[in-house]
Amino acid sequence: MKSIPSRLTAIAAAFVAILGAPAMAHEEEGWSIAIHGGAGTLGRKDMTPERDAAYRAALRQALDAGAKVLREGGTAMDAVEAAIVIMEDDARFNAGRGAVYTWDETHELDASIMDGRDRSAGAVAGVTGIRHPIRLARKVMTDSPHVMLAGKGAQQFASEQDIEMAPPEWFDTPERLEALKRLKAEKLSAIDVDIKFGTVGAVALDKSGNLAAGTSTGGMTGKRWGRIGDAPVIGAGTYADNAACAVSATGWGEFFIRVGVARTICLRMQMKGEDAQTASDAVIAEVGALGGDGGVIVVAPNGDAVFSMNTSGMYRGRATSKGTSEVGIYADE
Ligand code: ASP
Repeated sequence: MKSIPSRLTAIAAAFVAILGAPAMAHEEEGWSIAIHGGAGTLGRKDMTPERDAAYRAALRQALDAGAKVLREGGTAMDAVEAAIVIMEDDARFNAGRGAVYTWDETHELDASIMDGRDRSAGAVAGVTGIRHPIRLARKVMTDSPHVMLAGKGAQQFASEQDIEMAPPEWFDTPERLEALKRLKAEKLSAIDVDIKFGTVGAVALDKSGNLAAGTSTGGMTGKRWGRIGDAPVIGAGTYADNAACAVSATGWGEFFIRVGVARTICLRMQMKGEDAQTASDAVIAEVGALGGDGGVIVVAPNGDAVFSMNTSGMYRGRATSKGTSEVGIYADE
């Protein structure tokens, strides 16, 4: 006679045989991460070998930090945060330190993060003096009943939390200031001067099958009137749902908001059964058809980690438990 445990095993096996594996099953113990450091006009001729190498090293550092968390059994949320805080501290990227200048020569930062386990999310928009806006976004998720806080209120919330502040000089870079001056003097748009956009983001799948996504940015050079882009908008710049995918976007935010980029990619995968690459390419094509440009990083529940862009480059990287570990800059590599 069968013991109770082995009977239960037999019953469970019968169920699996009848129902099959759950849809979009997560491969046991597998993990994946993808990161970006912004998309834009990034030709090889615009880069010196030193600059190229420095960007790759910076991406590698952020990618490795996120991968380490996942390899050691940490959560997708912690991996996303670990990768993003490194890029927020790196003046090469337009997030945290190194953020672009607003019209008034300040830095207004936007960030968001989403947990695919239960679709809880947090976002901040137009905050100043916050060293790691991604951490503040996470605090909004965990320590407030809200999803998005903006401006003065977000600032007050930050002061009540254990959030690291930084003085205005921390965010300053001569290159970004020069971009603002050129924009004003030559009456250019942000698209003309934000040659290398530089927004940062990360998406991850952890060993437990949970997805997470996060994005952090200084927005676009010369922004005014409290302009907010897609980065802090859940469904546009960031989205994560264990049943669908995790997305972080970068590019011309107005178009990404209008298309609802991140959520649309996930919906296509969930409802139409498209793979991550097919869904991402279709939605980036939609952005392009409206006149927008940029790119996305996506991780699927099955561990696929993909990029899609309609720009000539996107700073990016990906690593998986299957042994992939690479960084890239140009679209054609
Ligand atoms: N998407 C960001 C924004 O519109 C900018 C960027 O990704 O470069 O604020």
